[in-house]
Amino acid sequence: MSAKKILIVEDEQAIREMIAFHLSRAGYETLEAGDCREAREQIADNRPDLALVDWMLPDMSGLELTRMLKRSDEFEDLAIIMLTARAEERDKVTGLEGGADDYITKPFAPRELMARIQAVLRRSGTANNGVVRSGVLELDVEGHRILSCGKEIRLGPTEFRLLQFIMTHAERVYSRSQLLDRVWGANVYVEERTVDVHVRRLRKALSVAGADRYIQTVRGAGYRFSVRDV
Ligand code: CA
Repeated sequence: MSAKKILIVEDEQAIREMIAFHLSRAGYETLEAGDCREAREQIADNRPDLALVDWMLPDMSGLELTRMLKRSDEFEDLAIIMLTARAEERDKVTGLEGGADDYITKPFAPRELMARIQAVLRRSGTANNGVVRSGVLELDVEGHRILSCGKEIRLGPTEFRLLQFIMTHAERVYSRSQLLDRVWGANVYVEERTVDVHVRRLRKALSVAGADRYIQTVRGAGYRFSVRDV
């Protein structure tokens, strides 16, 4: 199981390093950015599970960055906690309206930050210890396995990531290029038909449980995970 990745977007180096220190001690993998431009690069390249975003940043406000990410198809699932030095309630409201999942006022105790991070990760689709059930399938995210009627279905690493992604984003149609971005990573250059190859393998593996029909082809659009019949 891999550690959750947390991106720290904060221009004050001392604060950034302090947060990174506490996060890595708590077992998280940390990424750092000093401004929004760096943050966007880190997000596209390294796909963090959660971002801590400071309100005041040199090139763009943390709130604008949050809005932009939450409005994009690609990054809307990224969990965001805003950090701010402003304690006023109205800022809190504005921060959450911008789409942030939570909000924490500086100065904060590391323990409080850790508790907020855990709560947000638990709520978001990327929760560490979640079990996702759909039809006859049970995805054990923590245990990194897929079960049907208590029996494990063996999957290759790519098939597992693909299934995990579409199962946690059920009923939505994803094009091949969107799946490449979300499952393989934005900077990996593989052909779109690679997706078809892995979908075929995934269906074959799931067919033992009669669950291959959950991976539906949507003609001219892409693929969808659904337990309903087409
Ligand atoms: Ca700042």
